Amino acid sequence: MNILIAGGGIGGLTAALALHARGHEVTVLEAVREPKPLGVGINLLPHAVGVLDELGLLPALRGMAVETSALVFANRHGQAIYRDPRGLEGGYSHPQFSIHRGELQMRLWAEASARLTVISGQRVVGVRDGNIALIETTGGPREQAADLIVGADGIHSALRRRLAPDEGAPCWRGVMMWRGTSWAPPFLDGRTMVQAGHSQAKFVVYPIGAPRADGLQLINWIADRRVREPTPGLTAPDRADWSRAGRIEDLLPTFGRWRFDWLDVPGLITRAEQMLEWPMVDRDPLPRWRLGPTTLLGDAAHPMVPIGSNGATQAVMDAQALADALSHHDDLDTALAAYEDERRPLCARIVAMNRQEGLDAILDRVEALAPDGFARLADVIDPAEVAAEINAYKAAAGHRTRMP
Ligand SMILES: Cc1cc2nc3c(=O)[nH]c(=O)nc-3n(C[C@H](O)[C@H](O)[C@H](O)COP(=O)(O)OP(=O)(O)OC[C@H]3O[C@@H](n4cnc5c(N)ncnc54)[C@H](O)[C@@H]3O)c2cc1C
Repeated sequence: MNILIAGGGIGGLTAALALHARGHEVTVLEAVREPKPLGVGINLLPHAVGVLDELGLLPALRGMAVETSALVFANRHGQAIYRDPRGLEGGYSHPQFSIHRGELQMRLWAEASARLTVISGQRVVGVRDGNIALIETTGGPREQAADLIVGADGIHSALRRRLAPDEGAPCWRGVMMWRGTSWAPPFLDGRTMVQAGHSQAKFVVYPIGAPRADGLQLINWIADRRVREPTPGLTAPDRADWSRAGRIEDLLPTFGRWRFDWLDVPGLITRAEQMLEWPMVDRDPLPRWRLGPTTLLGDAAHPMVPIGSNGATQAVMDAQALADALSHHDDLDTALAAYEDERRPLCARIVAMNRQEGLDAILDRVEALAPDGFARLADVIDPAEVAAEINAYKAAAGHRTRMP
C-alpha cells in the first residue's frame, strides 16, 4: 500500500519504519521545517523497546539511553514506599530505557530517512475526497493521494479534528509540570527512576545518560504542582505559553525543603540547564479513530497525562499494531477496525486510570495515612497491598514480560 503519515514524532516515525518493514511504500510528512531534538526525558517500557528491537534499533538505543533498573515510589520525605524492578531486572525480555525524547526522535528520523521518504516543512491540514491529504508548505498548498492516511500529528492533531470537530482545547485539571535536566552526582544505583510526593506536589526523577568524566550524570526531572482546583470548565493556559521557560521561584516554595539523604531536590532544580513549563493535559477518548481510509496513532489518537511512562510507549505499540493489522487483513477497513479494536480500549483505559493518578495513586494513600512519614511502612499500609495495586495498573496498561 501507499501510506502517508502526518507527523514525524516518535509515533509517526516508528509506524513508518514498521510499515516499511512489511513492504509498504511510506511517506512521512512533518510540519516542522527543521526538526530539532526537542523535549527532555521519557521512558520506553520493555514492550515498546521490543518493537524497536524488531526494527533493528536496540544497539543504537542502548548507546543513547540508561537501562532503568527500578521504579521507586517515595513519600515527600524521601522514604521509600515500594521498589518495582524494571526491564531485565524485573524479568522482562527487554530493557526499559530512560532516554532523551529529542535524541530518540532524531535517531528514528535518521533511520526512517535512510529507509523511506521523510519530508519536513509539510503540514497536513485536512483530507479531501477520503484519501487526498491537503498539505501546507512554504511553497504554497499541495495535495497528495494515498491508500491510507495516518494522523500521527500529536495532541493538537489536524486529522483528529475531522473526527471530533467540536472537541476544543485539551482537558486540564489544574496541574502544571516543570520539566528540567541538570548535571548532578548519580543517585541510588545511577539507573533508578523515582516518583516522590503525592498528586498535589510530585517530583519524578531519573538519569538519561551515563556519567561523564567529572562523575556528573544528566538527570531528568519533572516537578508537578497543583496550581488550580480542578473545577468544571477550567481551561489550560494558552497554547502559546506551552513549553515556555520555567522559573525556579515557582518551584522552591514547594520543593525547597525536599532534601533527602539520597537526593537533593532543590539542588537539582537550581542546577537546571534547561527548564520548561507545561500544563498537564489530556483529551477524552474518542469513540472511533478511523474515517474512511484514515486513522490515528499516538498522541493524536489518545493523549494522556504522563503517568506510568505511557506517552511514547503507547505510540510505539500503536505503530506495531497497525503494521500487524495491515499484514493480517487484506481489506483495509477490516484492518483498521482490527487495529482500533486492539488499541482503542486499552488506551482509553490508560487515559481514565491516569486521570485517577494511575499507579501513583499509592502516593496519595500513603500521604493521607502518614503525612509526617513513617518508622515502618508496614505500620501504615500492608506492603502486599501496595504491590498488588501497582501490579494491577501494570497489567491493565499492557505490561508483559515477554514479547509475543
Ligand atoms: C516538541 C515536543 C516535545 C516533547 N517533549 C516531551 C518531553 O519532554 N517528555 C515527554 O514525556 N513527552 C514529550 N513530548 C510528547 C511525547 O513525545 C509524546 O507523548 C509521545 O512521544 C507520542 O508521540 P507522537 O509521535 O504521538 O506525538 P508527538 O511527539 O507530539 O509528535 C507529533 C509530530 O507531528 C508533528 N505535527 C503536528 N501537527 C502536524 C501536522 N498537521 N502535519 C504534519 N506534522 C504535524 C509535530 O511537529 C510532531 O513532530 C513532546 C512532544 C513534542 C512535539
